[in-house]
Amino acid sequence: MSRVAAADVHDILRRTFGFSGFRGQQEAVVTRVLAGLPTLALMPTGAGKSLCYQLPALALDGTAIVISPLIALMHDQIRAADALGIRAASMTSADADNAATAEALRAGELDLLYVAPERATTPGFEALLAQARLSLFAIDEAHCVSEWGHDFRPDYRMLRPVLDRFPDIPRLALTATADEVTRSDVLRQLGIPEDGLIVAGFDRPNIRYAIHPRGNAGQQVADFVKRTSGAGIVYATSRAATEQIAQHIAKTGRPTSFYHAGLPPERRSAVQAQFVGSEDMVMVATIAFGMGIDKPDVRFVVHAGLPKSIEAYYQETGRAGRDGDPAEAALLWSPNDFARARQRLSEVEEHRLASERARLDALAGLVETPGCRRAILLKHFGEDPPLACGNCDNCDNPPKVVDTTELARKLLSAVYRTGQSFGMGHVEKVLLGREDDRVRQRGHDSLSVYGIVGEDEAPLLRPLMRSLTAHGMLVTTEHGGLALGPSARAVLKGERPVAIAEPPAKKRRKARTQAANPIGDPLFDALRAKRKELASERGVPAYVIFHDSVLRDMATHRPET
Ligand code: ADP
Ligand code: MG
Ligand code: ZN
Repeated sequence: MSRVAAADVHDILRRTFGFSGFRGQQEAVVTRVLAGLPTLALMPTGAGKSLCYQLPALALDGTAIVISPLIALMHDQIRAADALGIRAASMTSADADNAATAEALRAGELDLLYVAPERATTPGFEALLAQARLSLFAIDEAHCVSEWGHDFRPDYRMLRPVLDRFPDIPRLALTATADEVTRSDVLRQLGIPEDGLIVAGFDRPNIRYAIHPRGNAGQQVADFVKRTSGAGIVYATSRAATEQIAQHIAKTGRPTSFYHAGLPPERRSAVQAQFVGSEDMVMVATIAFGMGIDKPDVRFVVHAGLPKSIEAYYQETGRAGRDGDPAEAALLWSPNDFARARQRLSEVEEHRLASERARLDALAGLVETPGCRRAILLKHFGEDPPLACGNCDNCDNPPKVVDTTELARKLLSAVYRTGQSFGMGHVEKVLLGREDDRVRQRGHDSLSVYGIVGEDEAPLLRPLMRSLTAHGMLVTTEHGGLALGPSARAVLKGERPVAIAEPPAKKRRKARTQAANPIGDPLFDALRAKRKELASERGVPAYVIFHDSVLRDMATHRPET
């Protein structure tokens, strides 16, 4: 292995790449690779992972073999390398002359050779490698090696024996997404020791994170938009919701549009172009929006519903403030988001169940923490988090933590005693001992749990219910009622303490609005708007047109997920 002087490295960085210095942990990664040490570089998208193997490929003799999952990715990389004067090629089914490329590899005329794992693991390719002089193996998008990851590619699993056949050639795995399980799986699958992991660059200090319970999403988003300036993205969880929320925003006078995969391509590209060119437009979109968009001055990203995972949340909020100026990331969540997601777990294949659960638990930890949001995010990516970042809702306004273990047991008992089929409103009335027809008809006023919670604790019930739902101790039944979840037992038995952030006094009203939309159905808000419209047309009170029976119909008529 040739030794490369630090001076040479900086020289290549400047002359070939035109960069004045390394970014983040690039130098640490490059130094390890040049020292021949196996390494996993975990850095967010855009952090500059390519340089971590391209630079050593130039500094070392021989050709770097780059494993990449997609031909399109390879060709992008090769174009970029060509522009820098790096000799790069790929061997794929889409390349015209693989024989010539093989010859160039044998002749030592390539700095980089890109191949897919399917080809890299064939005996023919291995024989070719044996005839070439290799500088390193770079395994890009290395999370594909793990079935815990979201892009599992079985052929990535077969790479290990190939790498092991060339023990003197350093291996560098790179990825932007790997939670803790995936991370250790990638290390193991590729034969990289724990101390070969370098994680960095995940912090986006200019983004302020804030997370709130969701009531009327449209109204909340409109209120948010009113107090911000600049362009922003609002992510909604359904196509219908994008249109509704955009209507709410339009009323604030802010330019707005919506975007989802159901729109014709011409319209999608038109609104996208409009957004990129605008300084104050708010785009309400499904997560189909944003992937290839280069707009550095996005001032905020709002999630009107729970994102898929912490990785997805990080990725999506990361579209804000790329210019480094202050930006905001706001998330509105509801226990229904968790209830539905946990319901969907029943359809998950057995071997993915644990990781899917972990994914939801991680999200619950983020939305539920009374501590620093950024700390949770960074810890998730394996970075050493600060104790407090000073730039998130909880750091700005640290919530008091209350021990609700006993209250949680009462709540869970009441859910159980009332037959696991009632919503929070009913359970709340029972617990607080409130007079109510339905409570009396069902005989719930004679239950042992009737009236066991004092009014002083009443404001804690809704936030506690949210917390218990987020953590899977409560689930929502098909008919919108609450039932005990798999982890309720430990709480009931007093084995698991429960603490929540004390709700600010005035938040109580929001909790009620939320209860009015029992399953978080976007249709509900639309109907409510319609009801108001009809009511004002006819000059009658709203409840005449929109009453309980409609609500009940809706609860049984839920959109398939
Ligand atoms: P990743 O693979 O991590 O998503 P890329 O390797 O595609 O990121 O790099 C993202 C961008 O960052 C590229 O435009 C690249 O030129 C740029 N970049 C990489 N390293 C540096 C650096 N040290 N200084 C400035 N820009 C850099
Ligand atoms: Mg990359
Ligand atoms: Zn913080």
